[in-house]
Amino acid sequence: MHELSIAQAVVQIVSDHAAGRRVEKVELRVGHLRQVVPAALEFAFELLASGSLLDGAELVIEDVPARGCCRECGTETVMSAFPLQCSDCRGFDLELLAGEELLVEAIELAGDEEMTIEGAAYGC
Ligand SMILES: [Zn+2]
Repeated sequence: MHELSIAQAVVQIVSDHAAGRRVEKVELRVGHLRQVVPAALEFAFELLASGSLLDGAELVIEDVPARGCCRECGTETVMSAFPLQCSDCRGFDLELLAGEELLVEAIELAGDEEMTIEGAAYGC
C-alpha cells in the first residue's frame, strides 16, 4: 500500500514545519498520475497522526489533473484519459506540466496560523 509511505512522508514534513505546535489542517496536492486512493491515504494519515501533534488534523487532498504542453504546436492540454494526446493537433509528444506532483502545500496550526510550505509553478 503506497499510501502508507506517502502518509509517512507527509507526517514527517508537517512535523518538521510545525516545530512542536499543534496541527489542525494539512493541505496536500496530489497529481492525478500518482494514482493515490484518497480514502486509503486518509486512513494511513489518521493512523500515523494518532498520538502526535497531528492527531485529529484534517487532511485535505486536492487532486491535480494531468496537463501537458505539446512540443509540436505549443497547445496546453488537460488530460482526461490515456494516452496523453494534444487536444489541438492530436500529437503525442507532450511535455508533462502537472499531474505528477505530490506535495504538502500548506498547513494550518492551532491559533489559525497558516503556513505555506510549497507553491507549484505551472506554465506552458
Ligand atoms: Zn499539438
